[in-house]
Parts: sequence; C-alpha cells; structure tokens
Amino acid sequence: MDLKNQRVLVVGLARSGVAAAKLLHKKGAQVVANDASPRESLRSEIETLQPLGIPVVSDGHPFTLLDSVSLIVKNPGIPYHMPLIAEALARSIPIVTEVELAFQSTTAPIIGITGSNGKTTTTTLVGAMFLEADIPARVAGNIGLPLSEAVLTAQDETVLIVELSSFQLQGTSEFRPRIATVLNLYPAHLDYHGSFEAYARAKENICTRQGPMDRLILNMDNEHVRHFADHSRAKVAWFSRLAPVPCGVYAYENHIYVREAEGVEPICLLSIDKIQLPGSHNLENILAATATAFYAGVPIDAITATLQTFRGVEHRLEYVRSVNGVDYYNDSKATNPKAALSAIRALDKPLVVLLGGLERGDDLKELSDGMRGCVKAVIALGQSRERMADAARQASVPNVHIAASFAEAVALAAGAAQRGDAVLLSPAAASWDQFKSFEERGSIFKELVNKL
Ligand code: ADP
Repeated sequence: MDLKNQRVLVVGLARSGVAAAKLLHKKGAQVVANDASPRESLRSEIETLQPLGIPVVSDGHPFTLLDSVSLIVKNPGIPYHMPLIAEALARSIPIVTEVELAFQSTTAPIIGITGSNGKTTTTTLVGAMFLEADIPARVAGNIGLPLSEAVLTAQDETVLIVELSSFQLQGTSEFRPRIATVLNLYPAHLDYHGSFEAYARAKENICTRQGPMDRLILNMDNEHVRHFADHSRAKVAWFSRLAPVPCGVYAYENHIYVREAEGVEPICLLSIDKIQLPGSHNLENILAATATAFYAGVPIDAITATLQTFRGVEHRLEYVRSVNGVDYYNDSKATNPKAALSAIRALDKPLVVLLGGLERGDDLKELSDGMRGCVKAVIALGQSRERMADAARQASVPNVHIAASFAEAVALAAGAAQRGDAVLLSPAAASWDQFKSFEERGSIFKELVNKL
C-alpha cells in the first residue's frame, strides 16, 4: 500500500487508532486523526500524535474531514452505519481496519486466531509455546498490543501471533495469515453485524484469501467452523475434543495426539491429566493452540512443556482464593451466555454464580438449561439482573438473589456458599453498565474476595 503523501483519516482513536496513525505517518501519509470524545479526554492521544504533526479533530465527526481523503482507517468498534462512515461509503472512499493496514505494512509471518470464545486464551498459549521454544514472536491484535504497534516495533523475522475479532476481520481486504486458526462460532455481536450469516462472513475473512501454501486450522467439532474449509484454498488441518481427525490434533482416551498429515501415524504428545488449564472448553483452546504451534514449526517438546505449566490468563476462569473451604473464581471475561455456560460446565462443584451486566437482549435459554442441577444459587446483578434471575428460576435454581451493588453481590454469594462449593463470577454479559471494562470488574471482584 503506497500511502506517501496520501491524505488518510483515522477514525476512532483508542490504542489501535493511535498505533495506526503512527504507522501511517511512518509510511509518509498525511494523517488526520478524529475521535468523537471531548478534547480533555484525549490528552494522551494528542500528546503522542501532535509532535508527529498529526492533527487530532475531537468532539464529533464532521463530514468536511472526508474532503480529499484517499483512505479511512476505522476503529473496529465503530459501526458502518455511523453517519461519517456511511457518507464515506457513499463517496466510495476505501475503508480498512487497523489490522489490514498493519498487514499491508509488514513482511513478518502472521498467525491469525479467531473464534467467538477462547481467542485470548489460545493466542496467549501459542505465544507461550513460541517463548518456550525460543522462537522470536509477539502476541498482538485484539489482545492488547495493536498489530500496527507490533509491526512498528518488531523485527521483520518476528512471528506475529494475532488475536482477531469479527470487527477487525470485517474491515480486511487483503489480510492473509500464513496460519489461520478458527476456534468456534456461536451467535455473538449480532447487534453489530446484523445477522449470524454476516458475523460468520466477517470471520471467514481470516481464510478466504489464503493460498495453497498457507495453513487453515479448524475445529472439527463445530459445524459452522467445519464449513470454513469450503471457503479457502489453504491446506486444512483439524482439531477435535471428540474423535481422531485425519490430519491435525485431537484428544483420545485421555491423551493428546498429533497426526501431521493424512495417512501418517499419530504421535502421542501427553496425558490430559498433566495439563494445568482446567475445563473442557480450555481443552478446545489447548488443542487449537497445539495445532497452531505445531504447524508453525514449534518443536513438540516446547509444546508439551508449555501445556504442563500454563495456568491461564487473568479474568478467565481464574482461581482467586479459598475462604472457609469455598473456592472463588473470577471469570469476568465471560461477557456472553455461551462463555458463562462453559465456565459453569468446567467447574465440577456445587456453584454459586454471579450473573448479569449490560443488557443486550441475549437469548438465555441455553444458559438456563445449563444451570439446572449444578447451580445452587444465583446472585443477579447489573442492568440485566431481572432477566438473569428469571433464567435461574426457570432452571429451578434453589436460591436466587438480586443484588443492589457489586459489593452486596459478593457478600450474598459468600453467604450462600458452603464448604466444598465454588463461587463463580461469570456474568454472561458485558461490563459497561457498571464498569469501565471486564478487567476492572474482575479486579474489583478479586479485591472484594480478598477482603472476605
Ligand atoms: P475471547 O478472547 O474469545 O473473549 P477468552 O480466552 O478471553 O476468549 O475467554 C473468555 C471466556 O470465554 C472465558 O472466561 C471462558 O468462560 C469462555 N471460554 C474460553 N474458551 C472457550 C471455548 N473454547 N469455548 C467456549 N467458551 C470459552
């Protein structure tokens, strides 16, 4: 992408927007940055961009910004129906996301990982396997370090292991990872994408441009993911928790196997009992990460060593402490019903679950069914508390409380739990009704638990 002297507009700053603006500047573009937030809340962004001569237009999205612009780099969170973006589309101005820009600005090998749930865990695990093997690699994308930042700062031979959301993938036009891994696909973010089909199409962008030298790693156990093989020219490998696969990684009789190619004898990697990360949903992440690292050339020793030490990522089914024989888990990242359901299934104890947060009108039927018989109490909180409480009552959960505050919710949970139980914060909802982020929600939960 030759952007020298081209006028490029970056819409939506946050971390990835700032990184995109810096990368564009390095490529010689004339960059203008724009964010609807008030100027005083953009102080650190302005401090970074102004010294580079990049003006920051705040407090709105005026259409005049589009004049003589040849490209827009859009923050993935901004919907395409936002007036400025809709106007840009009407004027046929190309719009990409930061991931596309970064991809077109590097020759580094890229591994892309996507799915509805488990992206961060899997991406982090793959990163840990590379680290164990001493192969230079950076974890980036949706996970914290924007890909543009990684591209700006990493050496060319460094492997970039990129977590990708559907929002990021929707804005790609040429993005083509050497290895693409798809974990699972469930209805999620339908408010943004409009329909499950549109959401799935966005995710498919991870593999539609791959060629025969690239590798596509797919979850054999997920029907929607299996179909991705029909949309890619890449060599396909599979992973499965349920049965041996013709080529790829699978769990069988309590062991993990890898079969490098069809017709080849499988190799047994290790016994599942030796793995530290709990939960069958995490087994899915483990198999996906193992396949990804294996086909990327990470030696088997480094893969098995990592599996025996990796204990997970903060706020994802994270063990906090035990108080009076009750184990407390922080799963604040469970921001949708499916994620909470996996956490509930993962813990093999009578459960007291803290549920609720931002109301998005999600269907709670499956979550409700999953609580039946294993959840002894639900503490419902946040904007969606009434519907969460209803879902618990539908499942005949014996003890359902509605909490007026987060502190009260933790106190009620502690009161409802007995020796041998577990208390689980797995809200099945986003945090923005009461918190800045799921990280803040999880950290406050841990503070409250540590004070019990
Ligand atoms: P993501 O980055 O896709 O949001 P994370 O790895 O951060 O995924 O995990 C978020 C939550 O989703 C976890 O706390 C857990 O409850 C649930 N989860 C993780 N992996 C899976 C999986 N493979 N299938 C279903 N749910 C999962």
